[in-house]
Amino acid sequence: MGLLSLGTPLDWYESRKHNEHVRDNGISQLINIFAQHQNRDNDKFYWGDEVEYMLVELDDNKKTVKLNIDYDHIIDDLNNSALEVGQKAVQNNVAFHPEYGRYMVEATPLAPFDGNILGHYLEVESNMRMRRFLSQTQLPANIRLLTLTSFPRMGCPGFTSPQAKPIGPASQSLFLPDEIINRHARFPTLTANIRKRRGCKVAINLPMYPDKNTKLLDDSIPDRELFDSDAEYRWASKPGHVYMDSMGFGMGSSCLQMTMQAKNIDEARYLYDALAPVTPLFLALSAAAPIFKGFLVNQDVRWNVISGAVDDRTFVERDLDPFPGYDYFGGLDIDKSVKSHLQKMGGGRGINGDRVFNVYGDTKLATNDGKSVQKIPKSRYASIDNYLVNESEIDKNFNDIYSPINQPVLQKLLKAGFDPIMAKHFAHLFIRDPLVLFSERVDQDNTLENDHFENIQSTNWQTLRFKPPSLYSTADVGDLKNKPGWRVEFRPTEIQLTDFENAAYTSFIILLSKAILRFRPDFYIGISKIDENMDTAHKVDAVTDDKFWYKSFNHWRLDANEFHGYDLSWFDRFINEGNDLEAYKQGYYNEPVHNAELTPDCIKHIPCVNNACKYTMNELINGNDSHPGLLRLIIKLIAIDLVPNTLKHCDSKILALKLERIKHYLMFVSKRASGKVPTIAHFLRSKVLNSPHYHKDSKVSDALNYDLIKLCDGITKLDFENYHDELYEYFGTAVASYVETNREVSFETV
Ligand code: GLU
Ligand code: MG
Repeated sequence: MGLLSLGTPLDWYESRKHNEHVRDNGISQLINIFAQHQNRDNDKFYWGDEVEYMLVELDDNKKTVKLNIDYDHIIDDLNNSALEVGQKAVQNNVAFHPEYGRYMVEATPLAPFDGNILGHYLEVESNMRMRRFLSQTQLPANIRLLTLTSFPRMGCPGFTSPQAKPIGPASQSLFLPDEIINRHARFPTLTANIRKRRGCKVAINLPMYPDKNTKLLDDSIPDRELFDSDAEYRWASKPGHVYMDSMGFGMGSSCLQMTMQAKNIDEARYLYDALAPVTPLFLALSAAAPIFKGFLVNQDVRWNVISGAVDDRTFVERDLDPFPGYDYFGGLDIDKSVKSHLQKMGGGRGINGDRVFNVYGDTKLATNDGKSVQKIPKSRYASIDNYLVNESEIDKNFNDIYSPINQPVLQKLLKAGFDPIMAKHFAHLFIRDPLVLFSERVDQDNTLENDHFENIQSTNWQTLRFKPPSLYSTADVGDLKNKPGWRVEFRPTEIQLTDFENAAYTSFIILLSKAILRFRPDFYIGISKIDENMDTAHKVDAVTDDKFWYKSFNHWRLDANEFHGYDLSWFDRFINEGNDLEAYKQGYYNEPVHNAELTPDCIKHIPCVNNACKYTMNELINGNDSHPGLLRLIIKLIAIDLVPNTLKHCDSKILALKLERIKHYLMFVSKRASGKVPTIAHFLRSKVLNSPHYHKDSKVSDALNYDLIKLCDGITKLDFENYHDELYEYFGTAVASYVETNREVSFETV
């Protein structure tokens, strides 16, 4: 989840003295990065994924499950090439990384996959399987490496093994001990600095799932007098909501991320834009988090929990009155005398929502180092704010939300020759302060290092991340081709229980990205509509019960006829000799599609605003009579670019097996979109609601949690012997029967 520098991390009150230094040098580093890489071209479409795991300890005698916080050393062993397991990891192209939680492990491919090689879309699954297998060899049998988005009883009494009390000074949480936080000094410092900058603990309130006996009261809040902040819940917690007060509730959740490399910066900018409206769709399609802190909640995903968990904005930045006795300016470095004047005189709002205080004429309020204090609408962990292609290429109105800018940064970037959009993008990210700074790393060589840039960049946790390359010494510049280039990271997806699903979602997004670059659809809608979709994606069963804004099918700038026939049946026609592939290539029996012209989407799909209409997830992914949906873009891409184009029909058993598996990946996502297969959130919620341990009070007890995790473990292992019916319910019949007979990806050459 970010840069791991070694050294002594500075406490917020020390660190904040260097805020401008970090930003200023970070921007110089960015300018040098652009100078070095701006013109690189024709980089390969490489890609990779990141999976986040939790170590869950099961006690079959006591029927309890806990998060284990004592096995974090396995990450070092797994990466130690002096050990056999470390060698195996390298031989199998696997790498392990620390994450926020001491009970967490992250794993990725060591070297990226190649988007032009069909087999790599399958290799990712065997790679994921290997990551799990190698980690599991380092653990006792009762500690399972599970891909749970959120641990249902995180923050409940005694939820860790070994037990630890929630009395830690870093988070000051009433529920989470500091011992859940990664031991690397960066993480507790990050936790404490967010709290200190904000001026109070973070606060997350999730609506409880309202059931017959639900009290609509979070009765788990203890009456404690250890820290001053212990009383904050009185103002910070909301009735009818589950209250959480610590970074760990969010950053202790797991997700699935994918990163792809574009051939050049312009392609990366367009890909970033085109994926923006896809992000809420995949949040909803991957929904896997219906339970927090032992409560069934009235939402399905982790997103707003993390948003709140790392929200370091002060009261003034959030435009809220402070709690009684709390500082309006949190941990910002502002003179006491200025503050007391302001408190008396009040103020107004200038252009762009910046606070303006009359007491100093019309000067903007600023910290002692000159940084203006702004109203900031979103947390650092949030959806994106601006498109990246040049505004001349799209309707200006699509960038329709207010996103504050760091003006001096903007001016510096413009002066350095950045175009206004690119400059605005980074000037927006650079409204944030660095959260953790290491004393040994304050001074850096801006021609060789980019830690200051990365410090700000990698703590802007947005739905997408536009990733510039790193900076290299002149000696290395010669072979830039072998160094990572301009990349886009896709970050909303919740982690799924099985490697099959995670491979399916990864392949879907990577193939979609490749298809986007191949067919260049126009997916632009107002950013505010994407934000609305983010809210929708949180709702219970949003996939089946809600609609999402998307560019009107009529305005994708694609000819629907050209995608006709490229539905899931294409795989069967291609694989089986004798089917009339050529005819279908032109569409079903060459029948052109007229519907699109006859009934424009903006009439069928009301409301329609600026060419954005509301669609069901099924329509968006699976298309309809008049439109390809996202799925057919992918299948056409496979047909024309990823299978040898000299082939009329599949000519080898291995190719057929590969395509068969990819078909099932796509089919699985397609069925989730149509509602034929439940989301994990839906599946888990129904297990809770139907459990004998459930008392219609929205509470998930230890016993119920044990049953749930046991089931999740059985599903993860694809244990058809003991969980046959559950696995069929989970995957749906078609995919379950395929997975049951094809558990492993075992092709001779993939
Ligand atoms: N665990 C975080 C999430 O669920 C992501 C952390 C990271 O950026 O690696 O979104
Ligand atoms: Mg991570």
